[in-house]
Amino acid sequence: MVPELKAANLPSTVKTEGQMYQRWLRQNVRGHRQPHLRAVTLSFKRVGFAPGDADADTLDALARLADQFSAGEARLTHEQNLMLPWVFESDLPALYEAARVLGLAQPNIGLISDMIVCPGGDFCSLANARSLPIAAALTELFQDIDEITDLGPIDLHMSGCINSCGHHHSGHIGILGVDKDGKEWYQVTLGGSDGTHLSGPAIGGKVVGPSFSAAEVPDVVEAVLTTYRDLRTSAAEHFIDTLRRVGHEPFKQAANAARHDPGHRASRAAAEAAA
Ligand code: SF4
Repeated sequence: MVPELKAANLPSTVKTEGQMYQRWLRQNVRGHRQPHLRAVTLSFKRVGFAPGDADADTLDALARLADQFSAGEARLTHEQNLMLPWVFESDLPALYEAARVLGLAQPNIGLISDMIVCPGGDFCSLANARSLPIAAALTELFQDIDEITDLGPIDLHMSGCINSCGHHHSGHIGILGVDKDGKEWYQVTLGGSDGTHLSGPAIGGKVVGPSFSAAEVPDVVEAVLTTYRDLRTSAAEHFIDTLRRVGHEPFKQAANAARHDPGHRASRAAAEAAA
């Protein structure tokens, strides 16, 4: 049901022709059945915070934003962000300005830093491994907005155990915490999809090889992305489409070559030679 709607009509100093505002419009703002309205996603993927986390002061400020800009309504999204579903198009600059003050205006919705991550071993007694330190390392790694915009839409999902609360299996890049001999390791999968991407159905990702250490995971992800950049036909070909076109092998090879432990690489090579 459409609530009672009223534009905030707040003043704004935002330069609407500026690059960051335009990027925010492209990544974080969606069309609406009502032509004068927009659905706006505030990004909760920030350095220093676990994906989806907010402190009490931020939640208070968000409640005010929802009242001012979205008929008092906000929705949590599957991707661990927050959407304001009833925003007047004319209020977008003022909302952007307010979200930027709160640190929630990163134009990264749907990009690699917009990852889904379960609480893992820091909070969950079922976990095999921690997720949040890996998420923090990847969040730091992907702060260059030009770089992640160039990489395009990539779903990165991470779970701390096979219960899969982070939906690692449906990530284009999936990371699963596993326990080997009481130590934390991470299995990496590629090619999963939750079925929302234009090019294909929901499917589970395939494991690239033996598990990686926590320190190796960022390098493995970088190696996979470098392979994507090298093999894509153009920046318009999305990661998942390149992977489906060329197959998993070059990505697997790049991921396994990123291991830090040469002994692990050698034993892996020997095992493959003997197979
Ligand atoms: S996937 Fe495992 S570790 Fe993560 S929240 Fe679910 S049960 Fe806990």
